[in-house]
Amino acid sequence: MEYISTRGKVAGIGFVEAVLMGLADDGGLLVPKHIPQVSQDTLAQWQQLSYPELALEIFSLYIDGEIPREDLKQLVNDSYATFRDQEVTPLRKVKDNLHVLELFHGPTFAFKDIALQFLGNLYSYISRKQNSIIHILGATSGDTGASAIEGVRGKEGIKICILHPNGKVSKVQELQMTTVDDANVLNLSVEGNFDDCQRIIKELFADVAFKQEYHLRAINSINFARILAQTVYYFYAYFQLANQGAATGAVNFSVPTGNFGDIFAGFLAKKMGLPVSKLILATNENNILERFVNEGIYQPGEFHMTYSPSMDIQVASNFERYLYYLQGEDAASVASLMDSFRQEGRITVSGDRLTQVQRDFTAASVENDDCLATIGQVHDDFGYLLDPHTACGVAAAGRFTAKGEVTVALATAHPAKFNEAIELIQIEQTFPPQIQAIFDKPQHQKLVDGSNDAVKEELLKFF
Ligand SMILES: *Cc1c(COP(=O)(O)O)cnc(C)c1O
Repeated sequence: MEYISTRGKVAGIGFVEAVLMGLADDGGLLVPKHIPQVSQDTLAQWQQLSYPELALEIFSLYIDGEIPREDLKQLVNDSYATFRDQEVTPLRKVKDNLHVLELFHGPTFAFKDIALQFLGNLYSYISRKQNSIIHILGATSGDTGASAIEGVRGKEGIKICILHPNGKVSKVQELQMTTVDDANVLNLSVEGNFDDCQRIIKELFADVAFKQEYHLRAINSINFARILAQTVYYFYAYFQLANQGAATGAVNFSVPTGNFGDIFAGFLAKKMGLPVSKLILATNENNILERFVNEGIYQPGEFHMTYSPSMDIQVASNFERYLYYLQGEDAASVASLMDSFRQEGRITVSGDRLTQVQRDFTAASVENDDCLATIGQVHDDFGYLLDPHTACGVAAAGRFTAKGEVTVALATAHPAKFNEAIELIQIEQTFPPQIQAIFDKPQHQKLVDGSNDAVKEELLKFF
């Protein structure tokens, strides 16, 4: 399988090189040259597979023999053996037409573990095979950082530096990152918001000489391996529904969205041939993506802090991947749109293009009050506690699930990670022991101002 850049200046690289490159050297994002197609027959063959077995099949389509199958199988098995639920991503029925796909049974209680346990093991494997150093650099709105650190802490040949916005992540998120005391981990707490962190990372990665000299590797969802890992649970949920007799045809998925990574994985699964009906894109008040789908204007708005901080994002780093398909895989037009985005601060689509966007996605923004009300209501009516991100998806699912349809709402985090919101509606939850345990541990982090130079300086000391 060959990978190419959405801006057309990188082509013909393999899967491993695409993973190592992260952001394409021309500033674009890497995508597979052709999307593998999954037939009805193959879907039927996959229906009874366990989660790791299914992941192995899907990964194999994209890795195409570059990693020997036995090695890949081991990587996959190791990555999902750390999950607390045997099913890895169990599906819970909340009510007749609504199922919640629990993606939070990994080590850090958020869905990021599904991709980052695998990516951590993959980096470690590549480092051993190529005898190369890997320096991971990433920005986090809270969950990616914890998950990425957990994926590589203590691993030989790997160092990891994570930037998070100072004071803008939840307490549990902060503790999960900063109580890790392995020497290969550096936490930088940046004065600014997540978009500042993400911009710094993007600019450091865009400096190709710096990136190569220091062997910088990405763990943000600009890395295609993350998208790939996330396609698996769309298939798995579909099969679970079919096996339970809960759905016969296409199903809807509702996805709480920030950087457009998770929902892009759903878009990819659909393009591969998974029968998906509506892809419901749920945002909080930071609703650039909702405005794009409903009005055709992609333009960052004012930054809001919400109860769902992992979605407090204005510039969605994966958006360009979707744009590539929207533009009919025409890299030159993506490059020129991204250029004008940089100059004018917006991208506008209209006419047939906008109709296509609205065929691909249905979008809603769910504001704070509605988010809390949804948590309270689902708790009262069904005895099920949602985290605030999942609640945005569930609220959006409620708006768009038509009679006779079935919607799977992706549960992206465990409610214990976001007790700040849960407390507000007087619900008392018991923390899982793994989370309770981190409250007493010492923290390790360094406060830096939000400039590339300040971050670079810390990086040079660390590497
Ligand atoms: C990261 C995250 C999201 C958003 O996912 P994207 O891939 O950035 O769209 C939603 N919910 C939680 C809990 C997250 O950690």
